[in-house]
Amino acid sequence: MKEILLLKDGEIVLKGLNRRQFEDVLKKNIRIALQSLGRFEITSAQSTITVKPLDEDIDLDEAYERASRVFGIVSLSRAALCDEKSMESVIATAPAYLEKQLRAAKTFKVEAKRSDKRFPLKSPEICRELGGVLLSKYPHLRVDVHEPDVTVYVEIRDKGAYVHADAIRGAGGIPVGTGGKAVLLISGGIDSPVAAYMMAKRGLKLTAVHFASPPYTSARAEDKVVRLLQKVSRYAGPMTMYTVPFTEIQEKLRDDCPEELFTIIMRRLMMQMSERIALDNDCSALITGESLGQVASQTIGALNCTDEAADMVVFRPLIGMDKQEIINISYKIDTYETSIEPYEDCCTVFTPRHPRTKPILKYVKQAQERAEFEPLIEEALKNLKVTQIYPDYLQ
Ligand code: ATP
Ligand code: MG
Repeated sequence: MKEILLLKDGEIVLKGLNRRQFEDVLKKNIRIALQSLGRFEITSAQSTITVKPLDEDIDLDEAYERASRVFGIVSLSRAALCDEKSMESVIATAPAYLEKQLRAAKTFKVEAKRSDKRFPLKSPEICRELGGVLLSKYPHLRVDVHEPDVTVYVEIRDKGAYVHADAIRGAGGIPVGTGGKAVLLISGGIDSPVAAYMMAKRGLKLTAVHFASPPYTSARAEDKVVRLLQKVSRYAGPMTMYTVPFTEIQEKLRDDCPEELFTIIMRRLMMQMSERIALDNDCSALITGESLGQVASQTIGALNCTDEAADMVVFRPLIGMDKQEIINISYKIDTYETSIEPYEDCCTVFTPRHPRTKPILKYVKQAQERAEFEPLIEEALKNLKVTQIYPDYLQ
């Protein structure tokens, strides 16, 4: 029996973005997610994308998993493709394909959708006829139209007739790439990978920037960030990561700036440098994992100072979330275990004993200007390390 995937489109009501464009990007993203598994035919009609394997030995379980992480899909199901578009074929396919579920169930119902109006039976007739067949094949079953254990769906579409059981929830959101491009500031912590997931879900294509300060931070810390991004990439798609050599800038900060302003000036420098990388990469926003009040550099006063450093809009999707809520998402996207590996981040190098929680912007800017970071910034931006990131299952 030939199996396919049926993926239902999500939110397409965006103004100015037509359905066609949205579906083209979505299909491309699905193709990228599945391409290492073999060849597929991917078509769309009536708010549904049909994914048909073209090779014999394709791992459809894995294809289903991967499709469940593609943003822009509200629900998905695996379905049997009937040999032909006829009631006989539907009747032959349904009891065999759903045998396991039907044997385990006590009650069922049939739901039919006929978008090909040339099909001789109307939807209620399809339900009645198939329902009768299933009752005689599986005498332990009863029909329950309100709360059935199993619903048998029959879809008669232009391209064929399909049978499937309940759909599962898709990743939701809107397709990556339809919302523009943004730079993600990623540390090795719990928060920034979650922020990445949340903004990719709103259709942003990501470019990652990580600040590293060897030898204060190790190669293993950077490798951890790569592995986190490989997890994020299962949702956000392939992306480029830039590692910024930050050591000399941090040493200058330590030597030439007041200790209580170390962190805030460092955060401003990160924003400014990320914005420059964003401009060079056609990105128009920055993303951070900041959450109000979480640490001294994330108070309202500190955030005002950080925010002023860049002109671009800064998305902070975690700003109003509790740590536990953030952790729950990190479990869901499977980044938690990697995030808690104990490698140092450049943020924890030269941390002040008493950071200012209410920094005054004027003094922060004066201190930053006096230290003259520009030559070092230019040098660092000339020496970015580029790493291409692909989903972890391709490693
Ligand atoms: P996380 O769990 O993401 O590390 P955090 O709560 O530890 O966040 P900070 O260390 O203050 O918070 O960092 C706040 C945000 O700044 C991070 O979420 C991330 O977006 C950015 N950031 C911190 N360190 C780095 C770094 N080394 N490279 C790039 N961005 C960073
Ligand atoms: Mg951190």
